[in-house]
Amino acid sequence: MVGIRRGVVGKASYSLFALARNALSYHEDWREAWRSPEPKKHYKVIIVGGGGHGLATAYYLARVHGIRDIAVLEKGWIGGGNTGRNTTIIRSGYLWDESIALYEHALKLWETMSQELNFNVMFSQRGVINLSHSVHEMREMRRRYEAVRLNGVDIEMLSPSEIKKMVPIINIDPNIRYPVMGGILQRRAGTARHDAVAWGYARGADDMGVDIIQNCEVTGFRRKADGAIEGVETNRGFIGADKVGCVPAGHSAVLAEMAGFKLPIQARPLQAMVSEPVKPCIDTVVMSNAVHMYISQSDKGELVLGAGTDSYNSYAQRGSFNIAEHLMAATVELYPITSRLRMLRSWGGIVDTCPDASPILSKTPVPGLYFNCGWGTGGFKATPGSGHVFADLIANDRPNAIAAPFALDRFRTGYLVDEHGAAGVAH
Ligand SMILES: Cc1cc2nc3c(=O)[nH]c(=O)nc-3n(C[C@H](O)[C@H](O)[C@H](O)COP(=O)(O)OP(=O)(O)OC[C@H]3O[C@@H](n4cnc5c(N)ncnc54)[C@H](O)[C@@H]3O)c2cc1C
Repeated sequence: MVGIRRGVVGKASYSLFALARNALSYHEDWREAWRSPEPKKHYKVIIVGGGGHGLATAYYLARVHGIRDIAVLEKGWIGGGNTGRNTTIIRSGYLWDESIALYEHALKLWETMSQELNFNVMFSQRGVINLSHSVHEMREMRRRYEAVRLNGVDIEMLSPSEIKKMVPIINIDPNIRYPVMGGILQRRAGTARHDAVAWGYARGADDMGVDIIQNCEVTGFRRKADGAIEGVETNRGFIGADKVGCVPAGHSAVLAEMAGFKLPIQARPLQAMVSEPVKPCIDTVVMSNAVHMYISQSDKGELVLGAGTDSYNSYAQRGSFNIAEHLMAATVELYPITSRLRMLRSWGGIVDTCPDASPILSKTPVPGLYFNCGWGTGGFKATPGSGHVFADLIANDRPNAIAAPFALDRFRTGYLVDEHGAAGVAH
């Protein structure tokens, strides 16, 4: 960060006056947004994983629960995992009450996040449409529509012609392979700028004294004689902690194994791509579960296209070619104007999927060790809500009403929250 005053503690205020003041020094004197401290020997709480969820957890631990002796340990750079690789779709229209409560809690926090963090996360409530391509999907959507409405959350059913009105580039010819039979729309849903979410929470947490330590990989857990957590082994030595919260997404099962228990998680590559930039042609988000593709347009004009997961487990941050090919075929069929568009870049992340396509927010068999994972292909939308309830779980050592249904013991009791129909396309 050339020109940034390193080591200056305290949040630089982002305002019109600050912008004008810093213009006088050619914007070379902005304070760094967060410090790069050396790890201390011991913290009250360590958060493993500096993605959006981990950083949000640290932020709310400090902001809501007054716990400021916290370190976030990130093996790479903050936001370099799925947070910086996702297609940023945000919505709360799930099927079960438990999920709607969780994702709607998050959506409400999104609505005030830029003001809360004094950082523009570019939250854009441009609406999200989920298409249905078969009679079966229409029935599933009708059921979900009623479930969402019963929870007092906004949702609308759309006919093919209403969809065409909102998305003129879509092909609603009934003779295509997967004809558009209808859809549901959540108008309050939308997108945000993924990096900004990580940066905004990092800056806010750092301002309250949280140490954000990048290039610090957790390689093991140390436990006391009574079995409770004592701290973490890292590539920068042992760091003690009263409590440890793990938010490592695709590496959740790896970390659980280090702690001596198993999680019902599968790690799979999920990929996305963007086209060359074009003039504005779609001002909402459209998802299509049956054909495994979804589309939106970035502020730069690129079409953002997401695919389904690879069908095998892997820790490679890249997807396989056949998935990309399938995505392109579906895109051209549903949006014929894209047929001569060049793709600019593609990338992949490692998503952590649970058997019921719902997350895990839970205590673990190790006292003082907590896990937040299993968000699979759809956790970006949950970032603020996840951090908020996970902070509460760590601070009080018990889940609140929103987090309780997502505890690990559901895989023993059988009280699953099956969201395969309503989760991201990849499920
Ligand atoms: C291509 C793609 C598209 C997606 N699209 C959407 C979407 O449109 N909408 C949506 O809601 N969700 C989407 N998702 C899912 C979403 O990105 C994730 O669910 C969410 O970002 C998870 O956030 P996180 O903070 O838990 O994980 P991450 O951002 O992955 O953070 C976990 C961090 O833990 C770190 N870590 C792992 N192991 C260790 C260790 N041993 N020591 C220290 N650090 C460690 C990693 O380096 C990583 O930075 C998509 C995902 C992908 C890959």
